[in-house]
Amino acid sequence: MSDDRIGVYPGTFDPITKGHLDIIRRAASTVDALVIAIAENRDKGPLFSVEERLHLVQDEINNLKDKTLCKRIQVMSFNNLLIDFVASVGARQIFRGLRAVSDFDYEFQMAGMNHRLNANVDTLFLMASERYQFISSRFVKEVCRLGGDVSQFVSPLVEQHLKQRFATPQA
Ligand code: ADP
Repeated sequence: MSDDRIGVYPGTFDPITKGHLDIIRRAASTVDALVIAIAENRDKGPLFSVEERLHLVQDEINNLKDKTLCKRIQVMSFNNLLIDFVASVGARQIFRGLRAVSDFDYEFQMAGMNHRLNANVDTLFLMASERYQFISSRFVKEVCRLGGDVSQFVSPLVEQHLKQRFATPQA
């Protein structure tokens, strides 16, 4: 395993969207193993618990048509410093997705900090296909909360979880 190229794709995935999946497919096809790392991010106040997010991401991976790709992907959660998590799984690459210029500033700073913390780890940026670039978990939640149709942005299982969550009075 030590010669394998391992990459980590970290994020909140609250919930996973078709934009994330596009990046996952691209990232997984460039490494021997890809770890999807779900940040607990309790301070971000995620809609779904880390267990739910793990379940939803794992379900998407199980449903990938390309089974060779599927076998290369592992889904994990973490609540420590990303760069330490990356080292703990023996990875040298962090994948992040870029949507618009608005993502750049934050991503640039994070990649710079992470490189200072561990110069052996590089951050690689990928762009989703043009039809998925505009999708964000934040807007998917907002649209669903207000009763809009999110079926083109997320899988049927994610849509079902979103609808259930927003159907309950506390949501
Ligand atoms: P975070 O809280 O770490 O930004 P997200 O789950 O929102 O977590 O996103 C994880 C990564 O996926 C980020 O690099 C984000 O820019 C990228 N991403 C999310 N949606 C898309 C999309 N539609 N196209 C490309 N990249 C995306």
